[in-house]
Amino acid sequence: TSRERLLVVANRLPVSAVRRGVDSWHLEISVGGLVSALLGVKEFETRWIGWAGVNVPDEIGQRALIKALAEKRCIPVFLDEEIVHQYYNGYCNNILWPLFHYLGLPQEDRLATTRSFQSQFDAYKKANQMFAEVVKEHYVEGDVVWCHDYHLMFLPKCLKERNRKMKVGWFLHTPFPSSEIHRTLPSRSELLRSVLAADLVGFHTYDYARHFVSACTRILGLEGTPEGVEDQGRLTRVAAFPIGIDSDRFIRAFELPQVQDHMKELKERFAGRKVMLGVDRLDMIKGIPQKILAFEKFLEENPNWRDKVVLLQIAVPTRTDVPEYQKLTSQVHEIVGRINGRFGTLTAVPIHHLDRSLDFHALCALYAVTDVALVTSLRDGMNLVSYEFVACQASKKGVLILSEFAGAAQSLGAGAILVNPWNVTEVASSIGYALNMPADEREKRHHHNFVHVTTHTSQEWAATFVSELNDTIVEAQLRT
Ligand code: UDP
Repeated sequence: TSRERLLVVANRLPVSAVRRGVDSWHLEISVGGLVSALLGVKEFETRWIGWAGVNVPDEIGQRALIKALAEKRCIPVFLDEEIVHQYYNGYCNNILWPLFHYLGLPQEDRLATTRSFQSQFDAYKKANQMFAEVVKEHYVEGDVVWCHDYHLMFLPKCLKERNRKMKVGWFLHTPFPSSEIHRTLPSRSELLRSVLAADLVGFHTYDYARHFVSACTRILGLEGTPEGVEDQGRLTRVAAFPIGIDSDRFIRAFELPQVQDHMKELKERFAGRKVMLGVDRLDMIKGIPQKILAFEKFLEENPNWRDKVVLLQIAVPTRTDVPEYQKLTSQVHEIVGRINGRFGTLTAVPIHHLDRSLDFHALCALYAVTDVALVTSLRDGMNLVSYEFVACQASKKGVLILSEFAGAAQSLGAGAILVNPWNVTEVASSIGYALNMPADEREKRHHHNFVHVTTHTSQEWAATFVSELNDTIVEAQLRT
């Protein structure tokens, strides 16, 4: 018997393609959350459909890339530069991303965005149709099609219009905002209606699912039920599926000598000091300035801790060509410089700020030697860094300070210290509480979260979503 086929459609393929010649490509797999989630789902034969992140204007290059990607079970969608600019940089990153994270646009960008809105939305729809074309080409009856994220909200409708029998699921990896926020989007109704074309719609938390259902009832006037949203007798199932991580991959890493060596180096380097850690993309949503200001306040109020604690902030560069992000980078640099100038000595500084990413093994070692992890996202769909930290703390049993605005607060809230990142006083005193926490309380809190992280894995998440999608379709058939 052959396994059921799963077509995973996401904006980006899980590989980076670098052109080596007219007809030769070098491919690098990126092990993101989604990839490791689906590697573990053995009952499906998975294929990936998405953009390879490069512009390939010529047919020879396109054919060579299709061939190279096929070996990795990947199928490319070719988007030209203008579409990428309008759809990806414009509508996705400039409009949907900030809106879904409750970020206002800077005043000077507001009118410009209003003016370019229609052309960007048109490009968004066009790009989604291009994804639909590729799905159609490769679809075989009975396949499950799983669409991902805010880039592809228009896709379920494009797919169902062509084939009502296609099994279509859609999952959002960001928050879904309150209906009062979604209401302001000029394309609010069209987007909701196209998502509703899917059979199953999933979110990380119950709150996001509820916000989505409210948006459908208030904006579209449809009926919300405990199962989802109903439109003239047709049900779109809406539910929460909190993602997890491949916790075994992290736990196994500590068997490797290079990870142990790395830990030893770090322990020697920071001997006599407690290590606090932040790991974030340098994005507005991560609340990095708020975190650093809270750390400053803690140092200010606790002179005895000044030479006994260090904050390591890994800030992975992202969207570096966007002025907003450049501004954030220099803002953070300025604050870090000021604090290090204020509290540093000839031999040590309180904050090590790195504008770079780390490889997997270095990251594991860093998580493991950390005493207190600080996640201060202003909004965050889930935040996997908090899960990864917990998975790497089997021996140290360190403390997690976690923003209540991260989806992870719903699942790790019992073991973490939850904070409002906007309240610098509260975060500063939580840092003190965490650093002084007695071992038995640390162990209890860690144990709680460790059990959660190792039982709610990414593999289980993917398997649950797909089986729920299949069930939903069976139930719908029974109803008609
Ligand atoms: N990460 C990484 N290298 C780094 C820092 C982070 O690969 O140097 C990874 C990290 O392991 C995590 C992901 O980036 O899996 C960040 O995911 P999260 O959900 O925390 O935030 P996002 O960046 O998706 O908003």
